Amino acid sequence: MSIFSHPAYDKHEQVAFYQDAKSGLKAIIAVHNTNLGPSLGGCRMWPYADDGEALEDVLRLSRGMTYKSAMAGLKLGGGKSVIIGDPRKEKTPELLRAMGEFINTLGGRYITAEDSGTSVADMKVIGETTKFVSGLIEGSETGGDPSPSTAYGVFVGLKATAKHRWGRDDLQGLKVSIQGVGNVGFRLAKLLKEAGAEIYVTDIFQDNIDRAVSELGATAVGSDEIFDLDVDLFAPCAMGAILNDDTIARLKVGAIAGAANNQLAEERHAQALREKGILYAPDYVINAGGIIDVYYQQQGDYNPAQVKEHIERIGDTMQEIFQRAEETGETTAHVADRIAEERFGHEDAVKKTDSAAA
Ligand code: NAD
Repeated sequence: MSIFSHPAYDKHEQVAFYQDAKSGLKAIIAVHNTNLGPSLGGCRMWPYADDGEALEDVLRLSRGMTYKSAMAGLKLGGGKSVIIGDPRKEKTPELLRAMGEFINTLGGRYITAEDSGTSVADMKVIGETTKFVSGLIEGSETGGDPSPSTAYGVFVGLKATAKHRWGRDDLQGLKVSIQGVGNVGFRLAKLLKEAGAEIYVTDIFQDNIDRAVSELGATAVGSDEIFDLDVDLFAPCAMGAILNDDTIARLKVGAIAGAANNQLAEERHAQALREKGILYAPDYVINAGGIIDVYYQQQGDYNPAQVKEHIERIGDTMQEIFQRAEETGETTAHVADRIAEERFGHEDAVKKTDSAAA
């Protein structure tokens, strides 16, 4: 398996592999970029089919964290870790403690947090062997769970999207469809409901749909029907690659703003949305509320008002992206990448600036 020439390598600073025979831990830590600060990103545990799949996942995710943190104005770089294994069967305290020891070997260049397959409770166990772990705040409203902050950031970003798309300052009567009413989607639905929007929801779990219908008065729709709805805005809050040839052809909305990571199946789909007149809020910008929360938890001195104020800046960033995209004719996704690269000093962006100065 090649590393330096791997298609997802993209100038990673460091990739570390670790095996601990005693606990059975097999893990990879990828540090993409530390120009702005130590890399921070979740620890994912997943039963990857093979090492190659795990490597590709960790490389793509850690690069994404560099862009997300830079865009959110945090003094953080991008990194991520993966543990190869089934979290329901193979996760033991010994394995998590071994993961903490692995994290220590990077001397603080990588700070971990919860992700798919790991929980706040797991972070406490990892924290027994390393101090480079976040998401542990005791006694706070959220108990370390970043979802409420993510939902609030999406809400703020969605308002900025509606403002740019329709020139409106409120969400009264705006029809919003939400795919996935889990941790983030349900909280977003609640905020939208309070702001007077009309909510349409779908999920693969009936319980989740029922909760949104009974508690928020949302309208339930089928999991495939959601793409054909005659609504104003679509909020993907379930899974990635949801904006693809099939769904873009069907969507009748004027804007897309949701929490899911990696919403565009391929880069070219940003252009397809633009051509269809659908305003797209780049996913890693609008869903940064969670990383902002985790950053302040990591700093130690957690002040909810300060966190809220920082999350609200997502709205300003969104406006900047929309404005620039309009001026240059580029897609919002491309503009977001360029701004992030300028912020973390991506080699290509630096070159562009140098040649502009010359
Ligand atoms: P979650 O698992 O709590 O919720 C996802 C919901 O989507 C679940 O209720 C699930 O049943 C539903 N779902 C899955 N597939 C579906 C489908 N095909 N159709 C309809 N519903 C479907 O996860 P979450 O924490 O709410 O995160 C939602 C998304 O936001 C994910 O893509 C996640 O990566 C992203 N995200 C979350 C956070 C966070 O703080 N939790 C931060 C950034 C990004």
